[in-house]
Amino acid sequence: MKHLPRYDEEDRPREACGVFGIYAPNEDVARATYFGLYALQHRGQESAGIVVGDGHILRVQRGMGLVSQVFDEAAMRQLQGFLAVGHCRYATTGESSVRNAQPMTITAEAGPEGSRSAFALAHNGNLVNARALAAELMAAGVDLIASSDSEVILRLIAHSEGDSWYERLIQALPRLSGAFSLVMASPTALYAARDPWGVRPLCLGQLGREWVVASESCALDTVGATLVREVEPGEVIRIDRDGLTSARFAAPTRRLCSFEFVYFARPDSIINGRRVYSARVALGKQLAIEQPADADLVIPVPDSAVAMAVGYAQQSGIPYCEGLVKNRYIGRTFISPTQSQRDRGCQIKYNPLTDEIAGRRLVVIEDSIVRGTTSKPLVAMLRRAGATEVHLRIGSPPYRHPCHLGMDTGRTDELLAAHHTVEEIRHYIGADSLGYLSLDGLEAGIDRPAHLFCRACLDGRPPMPMDDYHDSPALVGAGCMTGEPLR
Ligand code: 5GP
Ligand code: SF4
Ligand code: MG
Repeated sequence: MKHLPRYDEEDRPREACGVFGIYAPNEDVARATYFGLYALQHRGQESAGIVVGDGHILRVQRGMGLVSQVFDEAAMRQLQGFLAVGHCRYATTGESSVRNAQPMTITAEAGPEGSRSAFALAHNGNLVNARALAAELMAAGVDLIASSDSEVILRLIAHSEGDSWYERLIQALPRLSGAFSLVMASPTALYAARDPWGVRPLCLGQLGREWVVASESCALDTVGATLVREVEPGEVIRIDRDGLTSARFAAPTRRLCSFEFVYFARPDSIINGRRVYSARVALGKQLAIEQPADADLVIPVPDSAVAMAVGYAQQSGIPYCEGLVKNRYIGRTFISPTQSQRDRGCQIKYNPLTDEIAGRRLVVIEDSIVRGTTSKPLVAMLRRAGATEVHLRIGSPPYRHPCHLGMDTGRTDELLAAHHTVEEIRHYIGADSLGYLSLDGLEAGIDRPAHLFCRACLDGRPPMPMDDYHDSPALVGAGCMTGEPLR
């Protein structure tokens, strides 16, 4: 039996990802998945993968880079079938390698649906009890190859009791704690499941009479599907030639990640019935009410804070201006694994519109401050461009606790607000004033009751017990390929 590789806290990749699935005998499913992943590219830019099922086998293609870099025409032509699962991965620290690309696949000996049966899994989120489950699997003689939490999920499913993958899912899923939006496939069926807290989004759409699942509704729009509903927290779905079957594997306790609305999701997506763009405009209005500023122009830190700046300008009456132009071809600065890479990333990412800014007092709207990597150099850049005052306003409350549920935010000691007062952060960043949105303001902007959301990074109260997580850090929040043959 292989030993479990050890990863220290610093090496541990964490990520949030995009997942997509389609069951559509009348479509080119690989191409639809390609475009679905394209629409979810903001959720993960490091690696991408597509698995296609044709009723007999699963075919897989995975690689490092953007969706457009991983797949070409030749690769797409290989991926023939009637169902597909796709994944794009966002890893921010630690190892970047194709070993961590998803969907990951497994071949179960004496598996359901045939004597050797393949299964593929794409995971967005992070388990908090992966280490305990891994120990249990290993005690039962199961090899863990990459020891990621996604691998633990896949092996737990494969080693569960049941004559079908669906039965095995219903056995395995209640044992998982943490965040998991899953899209999975056997050669004959597509599966989707979401953790009982619904931490990461997952929605169900229809394309004619056929089915699509995706992290965000923007991916449904891209492939011409209509949003039907959310995959419910604690729900598992199977889609095959007999249509859609659904079961509850656990009672739902809704705790959607608030930061999906603040930062992570695309503004044109609809989550929990709320358009992300409208929520961000409302957050910006609320910010203007709570944290007014005497200034000449409102400018956003593009792209994530644009809608908030629109709201701030509408509420305050201060004119909106695009004071910073962002190079669209550079990924999110978070994606660069080291701090020095992130610092340089910011310099090449933004360029100020000097004519607009010179001699003006600015209110700069940012969605969040995590490490201060973006805000500090930006404030300096705006001053060099001639701004007379820079008032920084943040569309979310101080980010004080690391996220253990699949959002990369570094360790506690990297989080500015964990150890510093607002005044100290203002001083460090070099702004004339700094104001954050309140927790109540966040609730008002999202316009859904606070108890339906995770805000653990803000208030330190995670939605599920973290005993296992704290006692022994969870496995690498990564996902991997298992290296096993696909037949
Ligand atoms: P900082 O620059 O303070 O380290 O991080 C905040 C900036 O990073 C914001 O511009 C935000 O849009 C962006 N960002 C990238 N990834 C994340 C993430 O996972 N969480 C949060 N809150 N912000 C992120
Ligand atoms: Fe989202 Fe924060 Fe909860 Fe993580 S801790 S899931 S970033 S709200
Ligand atoms: Mg940003």
